[in-house]
Amino acid sequence: MQVVSNVDWTKDKSIYDNFFKWHPRYNELLMKVQKLEVRDITLVVSDFDDTLYWRYEQLQSVLLAANRWKDWNILIEEKLWWYKICADRFFDSSKLVWKIVEKIRNNISLILSAWIEEYQNYKIENVWLDDLPRVIVGNHLDKPLALLEYLIDELWFIPSKIEFYDDRAEELLDDFKKLSSLLNNKISVFKVMLDKMKFGSMEELTY
Ligand SMILES: [Mg+2]
Repeated sequence: MQVVSNVDWTKDKSIYDNFFKWHPRYNELLMKVQKLEVRDITLVVSDFDDTLYWRYEQLQSVLLAANRWKDWNILIEEKLWWYKICADRFFDSSKLVWKIVEKIRNNISLILSAWIEEYQNYKIENVWLDDLPRVIVGNHLDKPLALLEYLIDELWFIPSKIEFYDDRAEELLDDFKKLSSLLNNKISVFKVMLDKMKFGSMEELTY
């Protein structure tokens, strides 16, 4: 027998109005999310840049540092050969990254990254994570709604628990709280702080 989620978004509808009423799929998503089955499964969701992928050297490189705020995207596009060859050099091998990768490998998981899809694909495919489902959004702040769409369009169920890892997690905390309320599940949000020379650190923002 299918267990339909106990989502009762109508009682606090204003919360979700503020969250994503502007979204072109607002009504459709609200209708569909109520019909999803809740499964006792943990979904691990991780950002890529500066969470699994150390960008410090990349940003410090003479070539990119001098052009970052100018024609950075154009430069990277022209130098994709260089970018691809060097990609694995930037993959941080600190214990913290491997701890998150272990979580990713031991659960169903999703790489939820922001920026230009083509560039992110180049990097992800070069650091041995290309077998994982991935969603790349244009804007970091779109991640909570992109996750909602992923559950509805791709996963077709609500995981009872979601763990989210991101170096800019604090910017998404409010929206993830609203998403958790909408899904009637538990979303644990972790801020990741990489440090290549040390272990790095992680802070849970939800508890
Ligand atoms: Mg990041």
